[in-house]
Amino acid sequence: MAEERREDVAVVGGGIAGLVTANRLAQLGLRAAVLEQGSAERYLCNTRYTGGTFHVCFRDVMSDEGALRQAILEATGGFADETLAGAIALEGRRVVRWLQDEGARFIKASAAEYHRWVLAPPGRTRPGLDWEGRAGDVLLRTLEANLSRRGGSVARNTRARSLIIEQGRCRGVVARQGDGEICFLTRAVVLADGGFQGNAALVRQYICARPERLKQRGAGTGRGDGLQMAIAAGAKLAGVDRFYGHVLSRDAMTNDRLWPYPYLDSLATAGVVVGPAGERFVDEGRGGVYIANAIARLADPLSAAIIFDHAIWEGPGRNGLIPANPHLPAVGGTLIRAGDLEALARELGVPPRPLLDTVRGYDDAIHRGALASLAPARRSSRHRACPVAVAPFYAAPVCAGITNTMGGVAINEHAQALREDGSVIPGLYAAGAATGGLEGGPEVGYVGGLVKCGVTGLRAAEHIARSGESE
Ligand SMILES: Cc1cc2nc3c(=O)[nH]c(=O)nc-3n(C[C@H](O)[C@H](O)[C@H](O)COP(=O)(O)OP(=O)(O)OC[C@H]3O[C@@H](n4cnc5c(N)ncnc54)[C@H](O)[C@@H]3O)c2cc1C
Repeated sequence: MAEERREDVAVVGGGIAGLVTANRLAQLGLRAAVLEQGSAERYLCNTRYTGGTFHVCFRDVMSDEGALRQAILEATGGFADETLAGAIALEGRRVVRWLQDEGARFIKASAAEYHRWVLAPPGRTRPGLDWEGRAGDVLLRTLEANLSRRGGSVARNTRARSLIIEQGRCRGVVARQGDGEICFLTRAVVLADGGFQGNAALVRQYICARPERLKQRGAGTGRGDGLQMAIAAGAKLAGVDRFYGHVLSRDAMTNDRLWPYPYLDSLATAGVVVGPAGERFVDEGRGGVYIANAIARLADPLSAAIIFDHAIWEGPGRNGLIPANPHLPAVGGTLIRAGDLEALARELGVPPRPLLDTVRGYDDAIHRGALASLAPARRSSRHRACPVAVAPFYAAPVCAGITNTMGGVAINEHAQALREDGSVIPGLYAAGAATGGLEGGPEVGYVGGLVKCGVTGLRAAEHIARSGESE
C-alpha cells in the first residue's frame, strides 16, 4: 500500500518555477508539498546553473507593457499565445519586485538593456560551469528557506510518476520516494519539472533525430515526466519542437570548460555557418538560438562550423561577458586558422571549392546589398552581416547546446493545463520550462526562461487560491 499524504497542492519540481509557486501559495494560506527528484541538499536543476538575467525578449522587464507585448509577438512571429504574451509583458516587473521582497538581490550586469535585472552574485563570470554561491543557487536557497519559514518543505528524492485523475479532474499525484511510493492527495497539481531536454526519446520524437549529438547545456534534469503525465491526462502540447540553447564549440561534447560558457553566438551571427559540404543551411541573422536549432536538425548535428575572418574575430568575437575571443582557444576549443580559405577548408575537412563558392557568394551579396537573394536568405536587421575577407581566416567546429525545451503543456494565462479542445483540465497547472504556448514556433522565438517561470508560478498559485474560495 502506498503511503498517503493530504496537502492543498502538490508542486512537481523544486526549481524557480516550483519554489515561486509554493511560496506564493503559502503567502495565500495554502500548504504545498514540493516534490523534488534530486536527493542532494543542493540538487541540480537548470535554475541552479542559470545566468540569472530577467529579461523579456532581451528588453528590460520594467519597459512599457505594450512594447514588451509587441516584442514577444514579433520575436515569436505571432506564435505566442496572445494572452500569455500579455501576462508576461504585464507581470515581468511584478516577478522582479516579488523576488526582491523574498530577499533576492539584483544587479545591473552591463550597459546592455537586457542586463538591467541580473541575480546577484552574477552567474557567469568565467568559462565552464560556475554556479555555487551564485545567481540561481542563492535564489533557490533563499526561496527554500522562506518556504520552510512558512511551514512548507521540499521533499527530496521524490519523483512524481503519475497523476490521479477522477472524473476529468486532477486530484493528486503518485511519486516514487526512495524505495517506496507515496500518493499526494490534493486539490491541484502544478507541473514545474523543467522541460524534457534530458529525455533522449522525447527529444528524438519532437526535436532532433540524433539527440546524443546535442550537448546538454544545463543540468539535464528535465526528463519530461510532467509532459508525459499531462499527455496521459489528455493535455494539449504546444511548441515542443524547439529549444532554448546556444551555439557551442564542438569540443564542449567532451571538454567541460566549454559549456555553458563561452557560447559562440556572436561569431555565428557575424560569420558564415556551413554544413559538411561547405554549404550554408541557416539564416545567421536570426540569432544564436535559431542557429542552434538549425544545427540540431542537420542529418549530423556534429557537422557544422563557423567560418569568419580576422576582423570578425577581433570585433564581434570579443562581444559578451565571456567572449569567444580569447576564451575559446584558452580553454581548449578548436580554432582553425589559415592564410587563405582553401587551406582553411582542407584543415576543417570540408571540400575547398564549395566552401570558397559559399564565402565568395556571401561576400558578394553583402557588397551588392542582395542578402535576401541568398539561399537561405540572410537577414541583417538584428545581426549585421560582415564580409569574410581579411586574412587570416578562421573556422570553429560547433555543436548545438540544448538548455531547455521551449514548449510543453499548453496553458492559459492562469497557468491551467488545456485539453486539445481548449477546455481546462480542472486542478492541473503547469509553470516554467514545463509549459508551452509562449515560446518557439517557426521563428524559434525566445522570450526569457526566468521571467516565464516567475509569471506562470505566481499566476498558478493565485488562480488555485482563488478557485478554492469559490469551491
Ligand atoms: C547555464 C544556463 C544559463 C541560463 N541563463 C538564463 C538567463 O540568464 N536568463 C533566463 O531567463 N534564463 C536562463 N536560463 C534558463 C532558466 O534558468 C530556466 O528557464 C529556468 O531555470 C527553468 O526553471 P524551472 O523551474 O522551470 O526548471 P528547473 O530549474 O530545471 O527545475 C525543475 C526541477 O524539477 C525536478 N524534477 C524533474 N522531474 C521531476 C519529477 N518527475 N518529480 C520531481 N521533481 C522533478 C528537477 O530535478 C528540477 O529540480 C539559463 C539556463 C542555464 C542552464
